[in-house]
Amino acid sequence: MNIHLINPNDTSFGIGIIVPRWLYVLASATPARFGTPKIIDETLDEMDFDTVEPGDVVGIGVHTLNALRGYTLGRKARERGAHVIFGGSHPTLYPEEAFEHGGATSVVTGDGDHVWSHVLEDISAGKPQRIYVGGRIEGDQFLPARWDLMPTDSYMIASVQTVRGCPKHCSFCSVWRTDGQRPRQRMADGVVQEVVELRRMGFRFILLADDNFYPVTIKDIELEERRNGPRVQELKDIRAERFELMDRLAELPHDMVFLTQITMEAADDPEYLEAMKRAHVKGALVGIESVTEEGLKAVFKDFNVAGDELIRQLRRFVEHDVHILGSFIFGLSTDREDTFDATVELAGKAGLDFAQFVTLTPFPGTIDFQKWEKEIEQAKETVDGIPLNRFWLIPRSKRPKLYLPHPTMTPEEIRVRTQNVWNQFYDLPSVWKRSRVTNKLRDRLAYVLISMLFPQMYANTGLATDSARGDRARKWARWLAKPCRRVFTTRPMPELQVPPSRPQFV
Ligand code: SF4
Repeated sequence: MNIHLINPNDTSFGIGIIVPRWLYVLASATPARFGTPKIIDETLDEMDFDTVEPGDVVGIGVHTLNALRGYTLGRKARERGAHVIFGGSHPTLYPEEAFEHGGATSVVTGDGDHVWSHVLEDISAGKPQRIYVGGRIEGDQFLPARWDLMPTDSYMIASVQTVRGCPKHCSFCSVWRTDGQRPRQRMADGVVQEVVELRRMGFRFILLADDNFYPVTIKDIELEERRNGPRVQELKDIRAERFELMDRLAELPHDMVFLTQITMEAADDPEYLEAMKRAHVKGALVGIESVTEEGLKAVFKDFNVAGDELIRQLRRFVEHDVHILGSFIFGLSTDREDTFDATVELAGKAGLDFAQFVTLTPFPGTIDFQKWEKEIEQAKETVDGIPLNRFWLIPRSKRPKLYLPHPTMTPEEIRVRTQNVWNQFYDLPSVWKRSRVTNKLRDRLAYVLISMLFPQMYANTGLATDSARGDRARKWARWLAKPCRRVFTTRPMPELQVPPSRPQFV
């Protein structure tokens, strides 16, 4: 019984930007008696079904946007006589769909780290259950990944997770509902060991793949103290553990670069920003979402600020050498024609190094989706017989580009304006100007290459309406990916030791 773990993707680029961590975590969760799983990441290469034998196990992890491809793979694997197991955020929300469309034998909901071995034991005993509930495991139970199985020449950025869950409740995001609002944090030791293993292999860029790298804010602690709440010590401990982790990362080779995802509130916490700087956390995705107060209210993100204060906050990150990938959403009901230009202007003034501009999409598991589903129920709109509220099942080429009606702009107008914003932000003169953040030629070149690759992979393939443009973007991405990878990785350091742990904080 061979085990195949597949990360589905519609397009294969030969090189991946970020390692899909879950593949290597599930490999680690696979008991030795079942052998070493075969890992297939379709971002690199398409799945070859000739390798699947009757009785094999095929594990497919999906989120909403690759669910359709995952279902196609699941059906093919089932036709070849394999046991097909689905897991990931999407099957956690819609377990039945994987049976209906993906030929599933079983579905795992929640965290797969520990339940995976039960799935395999049951299959080998000939008694697979329909649904396995993985639940939300605690931080000290997160499994490390089997990095020894990862190809060393295929990815630019490796990934290690330090915390799951986010205490916020943004209306467009499902993380707080699927991963929970209570931060489940991993102790520093396990994280540092994985990071050292990756640096030994030559990876110097590592994504700390957390839902929110700043899970407890200074304000959270102050508020809890003021109301004599029961969680003061718990919150302080979480914060202290973050500092412990950052202090340990600071002891690693200085060519390392950590990237993460963080809320803007960290800008008001200079001690935290200083620790990030020492720890070489040099890049962070910050969900800015909207440049207007009304827009922030619309997405339940009024802990963010707008206008000049927003620029000041973002600059505080940059002043601490934390470069920002700002994430913006277009298509909010409060957006107007001038919002697009205002966003590009703000991105420039705030000194953002990278930015992504996405259109508002009601993803399952979010408040936005719930509201939208209710609103469209009456209309019973379908595409090829598939209800619009199951848009991820519609073939990609026929899928609407936008779903939510806007009071003043047509969907096409929003799409075109969004594409223009990508084009403006990533035009070559602007990229070259921004590359001045570093005076080393190699780093400047790296910045320019990745600034060319990023929109090809994320904007043109998603927003393009004609397939020719999508194909062109994919070709460009394939062409750019190889030189980009070379500037991201470095000489392996097999001799690197794990820095000793520090005395526990009090
Ligand atoms: S968008 Fe970010 S801050 Fe908001 S709930 Fe999701 S992970 Fe948390």
